[in-house]
Amino acid sequence: MTTDRPGVLASVRDDFPRWYQDVLEKAELADNGPVRGTMVIRPYAYAIWERMQAEVDARIKAAGAENVYLPLFIPQSYLEREAEHVEGFSPELAVVTHAGGKELTEPVVVRPTSETVFGEVMAKWVQSHRDLPLLLNQWANVVRWELRPRLFLRTSEFLWQEGHTAHASREDAAAYARRIHLGVYRDFLQEVLAIPALVGVKTRRERFAGAIDTLTCEAMMGDGKALQMATSHELGQNFARAFGITYSDADGVEQTCWTTSWGSSTRMMGGLIMSHGDDRGLQVPPRIAPIQVVVLAVKDDPDVAAATARIAAALTEAGVRVRVDERTNQGFGRRATDWELKGVPVRIEVGPRDVAAGTVTVVRRDRREKAVVAADGVVAAIVETLSALQVEFAASARRRLDERIVDVETLSDARAAAATGFARIPWSVLGEDGERELNEGAVTVRCLQTPDGRIPSGSDAGELVAIVGRSY
Ligand code: AMP
Repeated sequence: MTTDRPGVLASVRDDFPRWYQDVLEKAELADNGPVRGTMVIRPYAYAIWERMQAEVDARIKAAGAENVYLPLFIPQSYLEREAEHVEGFSPELAVVTHAGGKELTEPVVVRPTSETVFGEVMAKWVQSHRDLPLLLNQWANVVRWELRPRLFLRTSEFLWQEGHTAHASREDAAAYARRIHLGVYRDFLQEVLAIPALVGVKTRRERFAGAIDTLTCEAMMGDGKALQMATSHELGQNFARAFGITYSDADGVEQTCWTTSWGSSTRMMGGLIMSHGDDRGLQVPPRIAPIQVVVLAVKDDPDVAAATARIAAALTEAGVRVRVDERTNQGFGRRATDWELKGVPVRIEVGPRDVAAGTVTVVRRDRREKAVVAADGVVAAIVETLSALQVEFAASARRRLDERIVDVETLSDARAAAATGFARIPWSVLGEDGERELNEGAVTVRCLQTPDGRIPSGSDAGELVAIVGRSY
């Protein structure tokens, strides 16, 4: 059977970066692509990503946005239209200068984000106030030539969704960005991934290139570092002016739109791994798990095979995502360890003795607790265990965040707290000078929020707190 420490992974506590690499490899999640910084997503991780997409997509649609697809290539001149945007992205651009065997007259950029093409199409599609708000989203791959790539967290090509909207007023744009940020991102992270997210705005230094305000969801990983999970930008009228996104108002007067954009990416896979994983590998919360229960046949035996099939059918019928593992030509302990590595939340072991007794053995991946359950009560037991597990994953991630976030009043205490987690410090104490000083020690302001943890609005400006930490 399995040993207490399978010994195939570095330990979370001793070497978190090694542990992360080990999990990617041993749980068969991802490999490096042939070009530096690119990534091969393996089937099990891609299945998790597809579930992330479905959950995020449903929330985006519930917020009224529609999906479109825009081209991969962007004329270089488009990026140059918004001054801050081109300055922010220039170092990360992949530019195609040759195609069809010839040098191109105008180089084309591989999209690092589709802001500018959306600007162009929105200018065409918006004419009157009746066309507003225009609420669009795209699922696509984008390319940013990252200098320090890391699988899932920061790759040179990644998969994401990018929403782009145009509104008649600043208030409308701001309200929509907040609706997406809380109703799509924070809700998905907390309810499905069981990852509590701190929300707030970025400082001027950390803001998106060309935005007037960037909202962020920041999560704490198993090593106390921060990961930015999703961002929503208020772009003011910067892009609307650059691309001529205007509308005629009710009086027929031409007005400039207010736009937003918002994105989340395959980085969320990295966040999932680093939030819930332990020394035995990945742990996938039930709501996102492509396999919620694995039914393991202990031995090659016709009665065992019949029982596993019966249990799998009953669970499937009840809406549980099940995989049967009948690879009885491989050692049982090895197979059990593999499913633990992959983080399947519950496994059911079925052996000849179980079949004779009319029972099965149910094992929770998180505590490795074994329970003997009557075969005819297994569906109810599993459904209950899965919903309990979802709650417990969220609670334990919340506990870690609460334990490792410290209120401080000085820069040096902030720096000290960031060694193991986050510090919360009044923004009036820190300020942009303090921020710069912290940056030199690789500590950044993750976000500014109200003292009670909300996204600040104009009237909160006086009393903001900065969440600071080390980050990925
Ligand atoms: P941005 O357009 O820069 O606001 O990025 C939107 C979201 O995409 C960020 O909040 C990240 O979660 C994610 N992201 C940005 N850069 C990368 C990258 N190189 N690899 C993976 N995800 C990324």
